[in-house]
Amino acid sequence: MTLFIDGHTYHYEMECLCRMFFFYQKIEVVHAQAPSGENYVYTGAARTEETTRLSVQVRLDERVHDEQAQVQNAREDYDSFCEKELARMVYRILSKLTGTHLGWGILTGIRPVRLVHSFWEQGKDDREIQQIFQRDYYASPQKTQLAITTAYQEKQIISRSGRDSFSLYVSIPFCPSRCRYCSFVSHSVEKTKKLMEPYVDHLCRELRLVADQVKQLGLRLETVYFGGGTPTTLTAQQLERLFDTIKEQFDLSHLQEYTVEAGRPDTITPEKLQAIKAAGITRISINPQTLSDSVLQEIGRRHTTQQTLEAFALARKMGFDNINMDLIAGLPGDTYESFVQTIEGVLKLDPENVTLHTLSVKRAADLARQPDWVYRQQHETVAAMLEYAYQRFEEQGLRPYYLYRQKNTMGNMENVGFCKPGKEGLYNVYIMDETHSILAVGAGGVTKLRQPGGTYLQRIFNFKYPYEYLSRFDDILTRKGQVPEFYERYKDDSDRPGGGDQ
Ligand code: SF4
Repeated sequence: MTLFIDGHTYHYEMECLCRMFFFYQKIEVVHAQAPSGENYVYTGAARTEETTRLSVQVRLDERVHDEQAQVQNAREDYDSFCEKELARMVYRILSKLTGTHLGWGILTGIRPVRLVHSFWEQGKDDREIQQIFQRDYYASPQKTQLAITTAYQEKQIISRSGRDSFSLYVSIPFCPSRCRYCSFVSHSVEKTKKLMEPYVDHLCRELRLVADQVKQLGLRLETVYFGGGTPTTLTAQQLERLFDTIKEQFDLSHLQEYTVEAGRPDTITPEKLQAIKAAGITRISINPQTLSDSVLQEIGRRHTTQQTLEAFALARKMGFDNINMDLIAGLPGDTYESFVQTIEGVLKLDPENVTLHTLSVKRAADLARQPDWVYRQQHETVAAMLEYAYQRFEEQGLRPYYLYRQKNTMGNMENVGFCKPGKEGLYNVYIMDETHSILAVGAGGVTKLRQPGGTYLQRIFNFKYPYEYLSRFDDILTRKGQVPEFYERYKDDSDRPGGGDQ
């Protein structure tokens, strides 16, 4: 598929949109005044003194469709209008030619909920927002409602964060084995076992440095999140050392949430859960992804459904009353029927949180290689899977509280966190919304500093891989020097660029 760009600068938006229809194909972007070749999408803008003529022509399997529109150059929103109008024209034609309707329409960004927040800030009410989503972005009524409902939950969580708030992220980039669809920087334990003890030593050192910094800066710790990877690949003793370091070094008196993503059920043992419980962790994740053993095998997760059920029962027995379960829709080998069984099996366990992701097909190479009709079938299956799950979650009293989209997901669907009232995963919202600074420790950790009272963001990257993290640890400590510098720069400051209330 060739995407022609002629006389405008909206190539990124156009490419994202085309990719949503043809993610399984290579899209070649060509700047040219006229289209040519077999299959193409041509997008053009020809500006004269007073008006601009927008045109789109699509040729697909020997069928050709086109549309034109005229835009007044004097429009205040000229640029964004032209971009959206071209996108709408492309969408209408591709939708007609392929028979595919996208739930999020021409919305290509990862945060539809943020759009709701910004419309609220402009004084628009929910009815107007619904109209805009459906009329201007071609989003479906269901997705629009999902974005608005989620935005209400998020708003409450965001309001709990103050000017000096921050969250702490502890990265444990080890896993028992690597899942086939994984895009994280995780290392299988078999290969890296000997790195784990020194890794914990270095993490404790980094935690101490960060704790000193936040003490001096007077920052308030709101949430702690152990993620990865699979934090429970560490031994109970190693976990205890990390928990103790955090307890000794940080002021936890304002802490609203403490999460350990136990993750893979095959790593959960009574000793580790005991260590987690004793440290006062309030929320854990046990992530089955699916309750179908054949799908688990297909995706390279070396655990069984039985292990998930046992790990969950054990956690409940030990008194954990806020458990999240991660699931994925669209996994290779999964069918609508087996997905329904997964949902029903999970609901029977009655977890407080369920996070439902849609598979990102970038990594599922076998799916991406399949022909057009298979993709369309998968697209429809994933849409039906989500519809079923959302309906059942609602019936079970689980409501959406955070939502984001990734590129190249099956059916261009979303990832949504659902929970029982009062059991929201706060960290998930803070990181996604960029509400306050996230100080990250460990390999692959990305510290995101947010200007207090403002919107400016600065990132500090730790080295990705554990061996690099260990061998270049001093470089990391040096980089972390940017944390106090950042806060010093933005001290008492709300009128610099990007300053002011959000
Ligand atoms: S458990 Fe998660 S982080 Fe680890 S390999 Fe599987 S998908 Fe990746």
